[in-house]
Formats: sequence, structure tokens, C-alpha cells
Amino acid sequence: MNLVPHCAPRFDAELIRRYGGPAPRYTSYPTALQFTEAWDESQLRRTAAALPAAAPLSLYVHLPFCASPCFYCACTRIITRQPALAQAYLARLYREIELQGELFEGAGPVEQLHFGGGTPTYYDAATLGEVMAALDRHFTLSEDESREYSIEVDPRTVHTDSMAELAGLGFNRLSLGVQDFDPAVQRAVNRVQSLKDTFDLIGAARAAGFRSVSVDLIYGLPLQTPPSFERTLDLVCVAWPDRIAVYAYAHLPQRFKAQRQIERSLVPAPEARLELLRLSIEKLTAAGYVYIGMDHFARPEDELVRAQRSGELQRNFQGYSTRGGRDLVGLGLSAISRVGDAYSQNAKALPAYQRALDAGRLPVERGLRLSADDRLRREVIEQLMCHGRVRFADLEGRYGIEFRAYFARELARLRELENDGLVRLSDAAVEVTPSGRLLLRAVARMFDVYAPRDAAGAARFSRVA
Ligand code: SF4
Repeated sequence: MNLVPHCAPRFDAELIRRYGGPAPRYTSYPTALQFTEAWDESQLRRTAAALPAAAPLSLYVHLPFCASPCFYCACTRIITRQPALAQAYLARLYREIELQGELFEGAGPVEQLHFGGGTPTYYDAATLGEVMAALDRHFTLSEDESREYSIEVDPRTVHTDSMAELAGLGFNRLSLGVQDFDPAVQRAVNRVQSLKDTFDLIGAARAAGFRSVSVDLIYGLPLQTPPSFERTLDLVCVAWPDRIAVYAYAHLPQRFKAQRQIERSLVPAPEARLELLRLSIEKLTAAGYVYIGMDHFARPEDELVRAQRSGELQRNFQGYSTRGGRDLVGLGLSAISRVGDAYSQNAKALPAYQRALDAGRLPVERGLRLSADDRLRREVIEQLMCHGRVRFADLEGRYGIEFRAYFARELARLRELENDGLVRLSDAAVEVTPSGRLLLRAVARMFDVYAPRDAAGAARFSRVA
């Protein structure tokens, strides 16, 4: 059954100007801003103990080290060239893997695994193999062909030979940071990587048997112009990766120290940013990519496109996923677990992370247990972000509500968006229009009971464009 209105998004500059303000990306609902510090490992332990036996798992492993700072970066990362620091981190990570493994002893196979960072390939393949072996000792790693085991790769840190080694460790998906191929832009953000290295790596990954290669780009970087970014888009289309993510750069130097190295005057003005977004959509869809939603494009035969067409697409902390609804165990600095009806986040500062593990405790620092209302809203928001539609009947039976009565205030707010052509409302559903597909966050935000309504609160999130 095709549940999705599979239309290309429609770029409407006026609507994006009006509705493209700061909003959460909804990789979780409620967002991490709602997590409370009145939360520790005991809540995670209780939640894990209540899981049904043999339920499949997803794992996320955070490897936070990088050799040099990219100036646009907003990730939790540690810049260092001291291998001893990165090794000491692994000793604690192994301890955490052991402790978490005990919590999930009765769980099923790990169907989805992601190594993110930082720069996972800061470590060589042999060391990453040791991390994989530690996971294998304490969880049930899947050998099924359909498993999704992915790793973020920085082309500046790996040689093409490493692709076969990474495939040998069990990884079958690769995510490559590119951002922009223009040399002047690369210098302005302190991330210089050659076109040849990137292309060679994509070729080597395919030869090594990686099932999926995805490339990350960013628009809105200093010195980017529409003609320069158009060249980057053309080059990426030549490489024809399975997936492309095009993120908007959010210049928030007051929050992210590295961004203070970027002169504000070099950052494209709002009108130029809009043009960069328009180019991204037009070029990639003209090249044959399908717009999934929220900055993500995939080749027509990709699993994400198939999952969206069959109504099975989900969202998790890494973005869109075919298995986002699995219980997710986050391992490492700042990692977030989504287990049962709760989120638990690890310490974000290295000393606190290490102290907890040295004392034999899980490094959980913040978290949240979802209320029934949170769970319902999470599902509404996920339906909108993944499928561009919420059918009231799908939720009414399961949640024991009459949708239009329960969400009367939200539906009234949506009237304004309907008048502007972002959504269509009927007695049975909310449906996002082609113009609204680029503004999914603005639509989803209508159902977010925690969304800040003041400018200061909203400024904690990035803009749509
Ligand atoms: S963008 Fe990636 S590689 Fe660059 S500093 Fe941030 S985490 Fe490290």
C-alpha cells in the first residue's frame, strides 16, 4: 500500500522566509532540551529490565576524537593529537560496553550499528576491530546480510586500503563527510580534502563491498556562492552516492567556540542561502535523487525510498532509518539511549564520563521518561517527518483518543499553515503539501508541546534555511 504522497518538494522562497525560522530537527521527541538531571543509571537499569526478551537492538558508539577542528563544527568532539588520550578513552568505553551488555543480556541481535563522532577513523582499522570485538563479547552482533552497520569516515584520515579492512570488520555502510569541494571554502572552514581522495575512497568502498555510501554536504558555509556550490553538487552527482545529506550551516558562535574562527561577513546572506537551498533541491532531484525529507536525498532504489513508499520509514538520532523504532543503546561520551519509553544521555564532559566508569557506574547524566502524551506526540511528529501525513484513525484506537478533540488547539494552529499552502486538513488526516515538504519542522512544531515560543528559546535550534 502506498501511503506516501510521493511528490517532489516545491521550493517557495516566500514560504521558507516566513516559516523557515529555528526549530528542532526532531531526531527525538521530546528533544534533548527537555532531559532532566534528576535521572541516573538506576532509571536506565529499570527500563532495560522491563524490555521484552530477544527484542532486536540498535547500537550507537561515539568516538569523539578529531585531529583538527572544522570551524563549522557543532558536534561533541575533542581535538587532540595525543594518542594516549584516545587510548585512555577506549579503556572506559570497553568498561561501558561490558556494563551495558549486562543490562541487555536477554536482548536479541544487534541489527543496526553506527560508529559516529568526532572522527571514528581517528583510530586505525586494527583498533576499530578491537572495539568491534568488545561489542561482540557483550552483545549479539548480527551476521545477517540485512544488518545495517555503518561508520562515519573522514577522507583525510583513511587510505583506500582501509576500506577492505573496515568491510572485513562487518561494516557495510559508509558515511563520508565532504561538505564542499571548493578549495577556498575548504580553507575557510579548516577542512581541506581533495576531490581525488574523496572519489578514490568512494570507489574503494564500492570495490570492498559496502552496500551503501552516503555523502554529507553543508550549505551556508563561508565563501560559498551559488556557482561554487553548484560545482560541488555537480561533482557529487558524478560520484552518484546512494544517499546525500545537505545540511544548513547554523552560525552560532556564541554556542560553538570553533565557529568564532569564521568571520560573519563571509557567511552567505539569507537570500544567498535560499538560493543555495534551491540549487541543492533542483540539482539533486534533476539528477535522479528522491527527496526523503529534512535535508536527505536517496537514489530511487535505496531502502529509505522503499521504506518511505511502504510506510515503514522511521527516525532516530542519526536521521532517517528503516529501523528507527528499535531500542537504541548509546555508548560513549554524550551518547543517547532510547530504551523502552525513556531517553538516557551519557555525560558530555570527558572527566565526568571517565569518573563514572572508574567508579563502576554507568555514565548516565540526564534523561527523561515519556508520558502517554509524549508518546502520542512523538508518533504524530514521526509520521509527519517520515510520511508527510498523519491519519487520525491510525492513532485513535491505539491511544484511545478522538484525534480532532485531543488536538483541537493544534489543528486550529495548523489552519494558518493550511491557508498558506503548507498542509491540507481533512476530517481524517493532516497531509503535508509539496510546498510544506521543505518545512516539515515547522509543521511538526505545531504538535510539540515544549516548543519554545519566545525568540531566545527558539535560537537554540538551527534554521530550516
Ligand atoms: S566536523 Fe567532524 S571531523 Fe570536523 S571537527 Fe567536527 S566532528 Fe571533527
